[in-house]
Amino acid sequence: CSFSVRLGDLHARLYLVNTAQWQLAELEVGQDSFCHRGFDGKVLEFLRSADREVREARERYPESSHAAFDAFLASLDAALLGEKDLTLIVRDPSGLSKLDTYEAEVEHFERTVRDDFALGVEYPLPSHQRNDAKSVAKIIRRARRIVALTGAGISVESGITPFRKPGPSDSARAIWDEFDARQMTVGNFNHDGEVRAKWWVMKRKLMKEMSMAEPNPAHCFFGELEKRGKLEGVITQNIDSLHQRGGIPSEKVNELHGHMRRLICSDYRTPLNPEPFGTGTCDYACDTSACGDADVPTCPKCGSPLRTETVMFEQSLPNGAVEEARSTIQNSDLLVVIGSTLIVRPANELPAEALRRGIPVIMVNFDDTCYDGNAISLVRQPAGIFFDEVMNQLGDEIWHADDEEEAEELEIDPEASVSVESKRPTLGLDVDSDDQLYGDDDLGC
Ligand SMILES: [Zn+2]
Repeated sequence: CSFSVRLGDLHARLYLVNTAQWQLAELEVGQDSFCHRGFDGKVLEFLRSADREVREARERYPESSHAAFDAFLASLDAALLGEKDLTLIVRDPSGLSKLDTYEAEVEHFERTVRDDFALGVEYPLPSHQRNDAKSVAKIIRRARRIVALTGAGISVESGITPFRKPGPSDSARAIWDEFDARQMTVGNFNHDGEVRAKWWVMKRKLMKEMSMAEPNPAHCFFGELEKRGKLEGVITQNIDSLHQRGGIPSEKVNELHGHMRRLICSDYRTPLNPEPFGTGTCDYACDTSACGDADVPTCPKCGSPLRTETVMFEQSLPNGAVEEARSTIQNSDLLVVIGSTLIVRPANELPAEALRRGIPVIMVNFDDTCYDGNAISLVRQPAGIFFDEVMNQLGDEIWHADDEEEAEELEIDPEASVSVESKRPTLGLDVDSDDQLYGDDDLGC
């Protein structure tokens, strides 16, 4: 819940749960969720404990900052004398905070995945996992709006080197074994010629691999789902365009980290190049194959280095891509996660979007993830080999099933609501104790 109230009645009872983020608007102070113990008492006591803590804090600060403390205390005193109303703004994902005897406009918002993580919400677990191709084929038949969330693991069988090591195998290579990930930031690219040269060595290696790569049976499986009208969309961390080449129209592929289909001048400001090299006035773009063989190819119009429209470290994701990914998953009835280490945000938060709505998740992955226990199927096989087998199981028939028996296969109650389990909200700070409701660091003065 969230509400904003004028604290006019000092005798109203305030319940502020420790999950709440709160702020006294006029005084510009407040605290984040879990940074306080919670409060249960009269508004008067809430303001008095604030007053006491600020007075104590004042003594610990040098004299030069006392004026700011004094101004703050004067406002607080005026509020305590009833001469001035303060506005309390509360945002509480637990929905338990409230102010009695008030006609406050309480609004309810939907918790975000991050609220869930902060609250320690646990998602439903399947009674048991069905990990063989035959069972997965049954689940696929049942679903009508399937979404794939894919990472590097799906393209390894097509010959693309992943950025991070897939799974525990020592023999597998990764881009970041060869190149220093920490160096490859957009800032370094724009300001450091050496980093640009290394970045281009890496790019040429990827370009060569991608020019030889073909979609594997896992890519083609989702192309087949599209043909049969069962695909809601693909969300991918990959930049290799293999989903499109596997038969999925571009508008259904959400490329979170961009693509390699063209080169642009690094001074060309695009959604995938939000931090241009200079003033952002150039608009040169060309086919990737036109990169020539210079160490760092440059723009024929303005001389700035060329780059691909891929997301570098410390570069923000294209506008709206994450919101779009969330809404694609919310519209789905089955999420298939393939070959993603789920280390990088926001991909690591996306499976939760499905689980919190009771949408089943199939996990085809060599890496352990925090969602493995929640997955209805957990597959530790190369994706191409596995989906080839699923395709065989499905055969040439219509890939739909409606009978109740198969509906029960899912065994996840879509009505199952999430519950706050591991971090119970606390309420009832003893105002006479030494526990601080306010921390020094949070004071805005
Ligand atoms: Zn240019």
